[in-house]
Amino acid sequence: MDQRSVSLRDIWKAKKRIAPYIQQSPLIYSERLSEIANCAIYLKLENLHASGSFKIRGATNKILLLTEEERKLGVTTFSTGNFGVSVAMIAKQLGIRATVCISERVPQTKVAALRRSGAKLEIYGQSQDDAAERCEQLQKSKGLTILHPFDDPEVIAGQGTIGLEIIEELPEVDTIFGGLSGGGLHSGIGVAMKTIDPSINIIGLSPTSSAAMYESIKAGKPLLVEEQDTYADSLLGGIGLNNKFTFPLVQKYVDDIILLEEEDITAGMHFMLIHHRMAIEGAAACGIGAIINKKVKLGTHNVIMITGNRVGSEVLFDIMQAHHSW
Ligand SMILES: *Cc1c(COP(=O)(O)O)cnc(C)c1O
Repeated sequence: MDQRSVSLRDIWKAKKRIAPYIQQSPLIYSERLSEIANCAIYLKLENLHASGSFKIRGATNKILLLTEEERKLGVTTFSTGNFGVSVAMIAKQLGIRATVCISERVPQTKVAALRRSGAKLEIYGQSQDDAAERCEQLQKSKGLTILHPFDDPEVIAGQGTIGLEIIEELPEVDTIFGGLSGGGLHSGIGVAMKTIDPSINIIGLSPTSSAAMYESIKAGKPLLVEEQDTYADSLLGGIGLNNKFTFPLVQKYVDDIILLEEEDITAGMHFMLIHHRMAIEGAAACGIGAIINKKVKLGTHNVIMITGNRVGSEVLFDIMQAHHSW
């Protein structure tokens, strides 16, 4: 592993650094889910950030660590959306110019949010890897600093702050799970929780249709997988063939990765609307769907990370029509 990895101390430092910009998210007990699962289920509501997702934590930690010179030249990122929105928001607040590169597959709701964010938008290619290539061109031609959406120790440390909030509020937590894509979230949570108590179970959930980390872990090295449409669009994208940090950290700290079908994901979204009156995106609904459809082995005190809310109204409409009872 690269010399620069992530420690629990880095995560505590990140927590202090980002505190003036980021509110602690609520942790709520879900009565109905706990009833269904026959154990205690809590929801960590990362969907309530002004940015719409937890990605604001890592983006803020990273940007606050840039040098004066780097801030002056500006930043760029590639992202399936939520990291881009977060970078745009915090950059604007700090007076830093941001250019967000996205592929043509990023859904309209996220494109609209990015347009409103004040960042310069570059739409390029068919995949996250194409968007990443555009970032590299901008780094070479304009000196912009590339902010990697997950494979970066400072981004990972920022996402890990969720783990500190969880254990402060619920010290008895024994199982944590949520949507897994590039692995920044699970790497941060993994370092935080396993350093505190190695017996805490960390589980990743990915759609069968886009399971780059799952396939890579199985193969023992980063692999490319083809992207297919999924309701969990924030989980699209590869882990990068040159992955430095999140692959070894997920390998080390994530106990299990479970694959979900589209019906699991939409069931989770529907449940959240009906029982908690909150609209969340597919990537954020994986944990709930996995419980409802009994895809995941639970502990006694479980926390699901509800990671984001950027879902289009047409998707919500489809979901309301497709499911009827809980
Ligand atoms: C990015 C994202 C994830 C997954 O995070 P990774 O660090 O890429 O694994 C999950 N849910 C939402 C809503 C996201 O935006």
